[in-house]
Amino acid sequence: MVYEKSKVIGLNLKVVVIFLILTLFSTVALSALPVYVQWRELDPKNVRVENDITYIQLKEVAGKFGKVIDVENEALVLIKHDKWKVFLFPKSGMCVINNLESFNIQETDARFYDGSIFLSPQLLAKILDLELIVSSKGIYFNRSLSKVQSIKTIIQKSLVRTIIELSEDAESEISPLVSTYGYLIKIFGAAVPETFYYEEFNDKIKYIKAYHYSETEVWVKIVLNYKAQVNKIIEDKRIVLDFTFEEVDEPVVVIDAGHGGYDPGTVGFSKLYEKDVALAVAQKAKELLKEYSIDVKLIREDDTYIDLHKRATMSNDFEADLFISVHLNSFPDDRTVRGSEVYYFDFSKTDYARKIAWRENLDQKKDKQLIETWVHDKESSISASKKFGEVLESNLKLKGIKSRGVSPAEFAVLAYTRSPAVLFELEFLSNNVVEENFKNSKYTKLFAEIIADSVIKYFDLKK
Ligand SMILES: [Zn+2]
Repeated sequence: MVYEKSKVIGLNLKVVVIFLILTLFSTVALSALPVYVQWRELDPKNVRVENDITYIQLKEVAGKFGKVIDVENEALVLIKHDKWKVFLFPKSGMCVINNLESFNIQETDARFYDGSIFLSPQLLAKILDLELIVSSKGIYFNRSLSKVQSIKTIIQKSLVRTIIELSEDAESEISPLVSTYGYLIKIFGAAVPETFYYEEFNDKIKYIKAYHYSETEVWVKIVLNYKAQVNKIIEDKRIVLDFTFEEVDEPVVVIDAGHGGYDPGTVGFSKLYEKDVALAVAQKAKELLKEYSIDVKLIREDDTYIDLHKRATMSNDFEADLFISVHLNSFPDDRTVRGSEVYYFDFSKTDYARKIAWRENLDQKKDKQLIETWVHDKESSISASKKFGEVLESNLKLKGIKSRGVSPAEFAVLAYTRSPAVLFELEFLSNNVVEENFKNSKYTKLFAEIIADSVIKYFDLKK
């Protein structure tokens, strides 16, 4: 204790006498101003007005903040709550809070009505550690603002734990961000000393920012690099957020430049080879996708021949998520014909795929189960193949290239690849203008951009 009881009593004898006189002779009336506790109105019977001073019943307000009156008589009032302890000596006019702070109280600060202590708003707010607002509309008691003391992050493999430490427990709410991956945590009745911001300390969290949304509301914005589920745990004065990230591997796109080696593919009027144009476009598309989070594999990187079955097997071994075979068309009968064509494999109307697979791909007896699985996989990739074909077509139009449609066809290279797959006939090399254009790297780049932009859109890629 930081005071001596006998001394306190001696000093305040006069105060006690005045206190008793006022208690006996003053008039007691109901409060004119409503009193609110955490924005809810207190029953007016707990409020009295005497000589224009409002007195509020301590027990009622203390109870609403979980603080219990242990002893209540005219000599001593004791409030206990967790680490909170208040000794109030009404007769001696002394108050001690948490054994740390002691001060004299004014005679006009306390009254007893029907054996229960009533205090002035100022004293009540002080001993219960509440925020007090007095306005012409009412007297408001609110829990004092909880201060955001720190925000820490612990990183484990696929789990990230963020801990928001508060000075007092506070109500909070969490909701996902709309425009990006992440969450918004609203903390009510809280304060943050200054805007708190930090970024890019790991590959999972982009940044964390804590700021005042209003005077009494703090928002903590956590922006993530990837999609994650969150689990919120309230531990006393801590808000613990566990983010579980979905393990995301980069998608794999396989770009197959058609033909190669002894097989030139179609040959233009002035001897430009399909195999060379296809390779140049495939290589350029790979380069354009370099800064995106995608793994680009090329079936061939130089002028070598690879058979169709091997191309598909390579793509399957790469565990491709998308296969794009790059070719050029030819129609020598009419060299004015121009435009792009996109094909995807669809065996839903024929049993073609089954037939070729049985015939060429596998040992019929030994691999029956394998081929059944393959047919099932192929079936499930048809709609995705068509979807990518449509993305390609929309990008062709954006670049001003005529599209001759997205159609199903039975190309072997598309039949054997398990992933969604398209065969892209860039243009007609039999057209002289097209052939001349492809001698220029700008035109090669244009088609590489169409492929790259379509891949970016299809996988929703970020740099
Ligand atoms: Zn071809």
